[in-house]
Parts: sequence; C-alpha cells; structure tokens
Amino acid sequence: MLRTHTCGELRINNVGEKVSLSGWVQKSRDKGGMIWVDLRDRYGITQLMAEEGVSQPEILTKARELGREFVINITGTVKERESKNDKIPTGEVEILIEELTVLNPAKLPPFLIEDETDGGDELRLKYRYLDLRRNTVREKLRLRHKVSSETRKFLDQQEFIEVETPVLIKSTPEGARDFVVPSRMNQGEFYALPQSPQTFKQLLMVSGFDRYYQIVKCFRDEDLRADRQPEFTQIDCEMSFVEQEDILNMFEGLIRHLFKTVKGIDLQEVPRMDYADAMKYYGSDKPDIRFDMKFVELNELVQNKGFQIFDDAELIVGINAQGAAQYTRKEIDKLTEWVKRPQVGAKGLVYIKYNEDGTLKSSVDKFYSEEDKLVIAEKFGAKPGDMMLILSGEKNAVRKQLNELRLEMGSRLGLRNADDYKVLWVLDFPLLEFDEESNRWHAMHHPFTSPKPEDINLLSTSPGEVRANAYDMVINGTEVGGGSVRIFQKPLQQRMFDLLGFTPEEAEAQFGFLMSAFEYGAPPHAGIAFGFDRLCSLFGGSDSIRDYIAFPKNNSGRDVMIDSPAPISEEQLKELGIETK
Ligand code: ASP
Repeated sequence: MLRTHTCGELRINNVGEKVSLSGWVQKSRDKGGMIWVDLRDRYGITQLMAEEGVSQPEILTKARELGREFVINITGTVKERESKNDKIPTGEVEILIEELTVLNPAKLPPFLIEDETDGGDELRLKYRYLDLRRNTVREKLRLRHKVSSETRKFLDQQEFIEVETPVLIKSTPEGARDFVVPSRMNQGEFYALPQSPQTFKQLLMVSGFDRYYQIVKCFRDEDLRADRQPEFTQIDCEMSFVEQEDILNMFEGLIRHLFKTVKGIDLQEVPRMDYADAMKYYGSDKPDIRFDMKFVELNELVQNKGFQIFDDAELIVGINAQGAAQYTRKEIDKLTEWVKRPQVGAKGLVYIKYNEDGTLKSSVDKFYSEEDKLVIAEKFGAKPGDMMLILSGEKNAVRKQLNELRLEMGSRLGLRNADDYKVLWVLDFPLLEFDEESNRWHAMHHPFTSPKPEDINLLSTSPGEVRANAYDMVINGTEVGGGSVRIFQKPLQQRMFDLLGFTPEEAEAQFGFLMSAFEYGAPPHAGIAFGFDRLCSLFGGSDSIRDYIAFPKNNSGRDVMIDSPAPISEEQLKELGIETK
C-alpha cells in the first residue's frame, strides 16, 4: 500500500499505529545516531525518524542517502515526539521508519521549495511545477478553486445552466486584437479565438436557455501591460427577460455569496454611482471608495484673481488630504516632482496648508488673500491640520492626473488597506466614444449594448451624449466585472452597426448570424462577465493575477516553461497553406 494516511493527518491519538506514508523529502537532519526526515505532500508535513540501535542498519543507510525532493514511501510506527512542534498540526508525533523505498530520486531543485524561496520570478516560472509545490503558491490555487466552486454553487441554485461555447470561432468585437488559428482544411482562412463568448451567450438566450453561465477562457492579443495575461478566465453570464436592476441584484448576490463563503465577510450594501459622477468626483470610471477625498472644483473661486495659470485653465480641481499639513517643504517638492512625472503628466501642483494654528499657507499666496484661502478651505470642508492639493488644465487630462494623485495620497495616508473591501456599481456609461485616430465612433462596451431608451433620440444628433444601459462592478478601485442590457431587435442593432461605421454588407458578413437570430423571436436579455483571475487575486489580497493562474505567461506573453510561442516546421506551414517568403 503506497499510503494509509496523508502527511497532514496523523495526531497523538494515532500513537502505536502502523502506517504507510508517501511524499517528497522536504529536508533531513543527520545527528549521528539519529536521522530525521520531513516528509511533505499537499496535506502537510510529517516527521520521520530512524535511530541507531533501534532501526535496521540498512534503513539508516537508506535514510542518509535521501536528498531534497526525493519521492519515497515508508512504513513505520507512530510515536509521540520528545520535543514537540506546535507550529504544525502533526507536530506531536513522528514515525519510526521500518521500511523505506525510494520511488524516485530527484535532482537538486534550482530554488528552495519553501514558503520563503530564493528563486527569482523567471526561474520559478520556468520550473513552475516545482514552484507549485510550495504551500504559499498552492494555497492561491486552492483559493481559486474555492471561488469557482462557490460561483457554481450559487449560480446553480439560481437555475443557471453552464454551457460550453466553442473556442475556434470568428472575431468577437471586444475591442482588442484576435488571436487567430489557421485552418488546414480551409486554406487561407482563419479561426479567431474568442475574446469573450458574447455572441454565443446571446444566441443561447434566443434559444430560450434563460439563465446561462460559463467559467471560460478568453483570449485577447493586447499589448501586455504589467499583470495582464493574453489568456484569462471570465465568469460569463447572461439572463433573459430581465432589466438592468435584475442583473445588479443577481450579481450583487453572487459577490455577496463569494465574500461570505470565501472570506467570511458580510458585505455591506453596494453603492451605485453614475459614470458622470465617477469622472467628476474621482476622475476615474473605477473609483476606489475605501476613502473619500472627493474632487472639489474651484473655477469660480480662484479665477480672475491675477493667477494666469488658473485663469487659462479649463478646470481647476483639488483634493483635501486630511492630516497632511505636517508635510515639509521638501516633501511637497517631492510630491510636485511626482505629479510632473510623464506617467502622471501634471504641469505643477498648488497646495494650501491649513496649519494647526488656523493660518493658511499656500504656494500661491501672492494671488490669494487669507480670506480667499478660507473660502476655498470651506469649499473643501478642510480643517486645521489638512492640506489641499490643486491641479489645473484641460478638463479630462486634469481629472486623470488628480485621480493618480488621489490614489497616491490615499496610499501614503494609509487609507487603502487590502483587507478592507469596498464594492461599487458604476452605471450609465456613455454608449460611444469618439476615436480621433480612426475618426469614428467606437462602442465603449461592445456593439451589442443597448442605449438607454430615453436617450435613443440623441443617436442621430449627438451620439456622444447617449448613455448606455451598461454597468461595471468595481472593488477597491479595480474593475472586476462589466456588462450591459443588450440590443435584441434587428433594426436597432443595424442602426448601431451603421453608427459604428460598418457598411450593411460588412455588418451582414460579420454579424449576419446574430441579426438573423434576432428575427426569430429574441427575448430581451442582459448579462455580465467577471474577470475571474482578478477576483481571485483580490480575495487573496494580492495585486498579481499571475500568482492565481497555474501556468501563467510572463510579462512578454511567453510561457517560459514550455517555451512558447515557438516556430513550427516548414512542413506544418505548408500543410496549412502558409507561405513563408
Ligand atoms: N462580453 C463582455 C466582456 O467581456 C461582458 C458582457 O457584456 O457580458 O467584457
């Protein structure tokens, strides 16, 4: 028998039992007359021992030859330990080895298989199967398993049906580039890998599935930013005969269930914010609402006082950093440098310190009287001890810059604790955004998103003002999910393609299947997709989604373990009908 117990199982009440264990040698200690071996598997570590005078000499010899990560099987008797280890659950016992078989020797691993390892990122990715032996890494994948199994439980209870949709498909317009796969049987033609199952889940609604979900791989060939993976997983969902409110309630329910079962947290009510307010008060469509520090617009208070920079600005807007008045001149200079970095891009930073003694000191004292500054402070709701930080410039740019500064100040003031979870719905996104480069309108979410009925009449006059029935779920400043109410009638869908610059022929060629489906009794429907890897990393309190994926790609989109992407042979290329010259 290769094992009667796992390495995490034996306790003091097993003393005297004869057991078999199998696992990996974590480490061994040879103290002359005594040898101890830590045997590890997924469940834990159990201490094995052999002793001169007690154990057979051949057992002692074999035990001395064991190296790190050898795979062994032993049989022995459970003993009470003399010096107990209260740090591990099996710490009260050890096994006196009576038989020992090396099932497979191992080369010395290239880094330590321990919680604190000496291996760098690339090395650990190259030997990911060894990295995955480490407790800390395995625990992350366990958390991922828990999130997926609780998701399935919840959605199953709500009568959702999991349906698999194909992976070899045709381009889906989620706004990124497609990964394509050449077809041997249809030379010169290509499949695309799904950026999401969007069109399929809508077709399933036409089929009457009513509630669909899928935990599904999606593929987007985007320029890689830190912590983006070319293949990632979504919890993809769609429902029929629902309005936006039904979706918000259902999926707030899912998130509530996940927080409860995965984290033991009872989620408070999830607030909602309009896109327009999110931009005005936080300069971002995914505000971190763990802390307040809302934007305060100052144009009417600070213009026409002789300060040219403010007079020329489209928007003058600031935040109040509570308790930051103790910032020294040097620290403020550093902060000014920080906002001027190209990543933030501000031209400068104006501050007003509200000193503890009630006086107000600013970098623009030349232009503003004590009285002026007091009025400004009042507008901010600032108190003695606070510091107001103000940026100015073109509206959209300055909001973006102030968003960066707000997040930075939030971090510096300790207001962004990873264990504090604040969930938010952002609603009423614009339907379209204008792309200067291609000089045309783009769907902000995707082309199947429905405009708000009350805004439809703006479609022909001012498309930029049309709001969509689209929503994002944001947790701690990270977008974890997004979706929309869909267009389900052919004429409106055609109109949308037209607005997006498709000729009727192009629309027909790319999405004819969907539009003809709409002619056969399509129900009103809506849906959402959550970024599953991101959700897991949030629950794990980490910024990195890579850690929550068993075999991730590195930052250049490579799998350094299997060494992919890689060239293929001339023969394969020929078979696929791909010319190389
Ligand atoms: N398919 C969309 C996405 O991947 C989600 C949705 O609209 O349901 O973002």
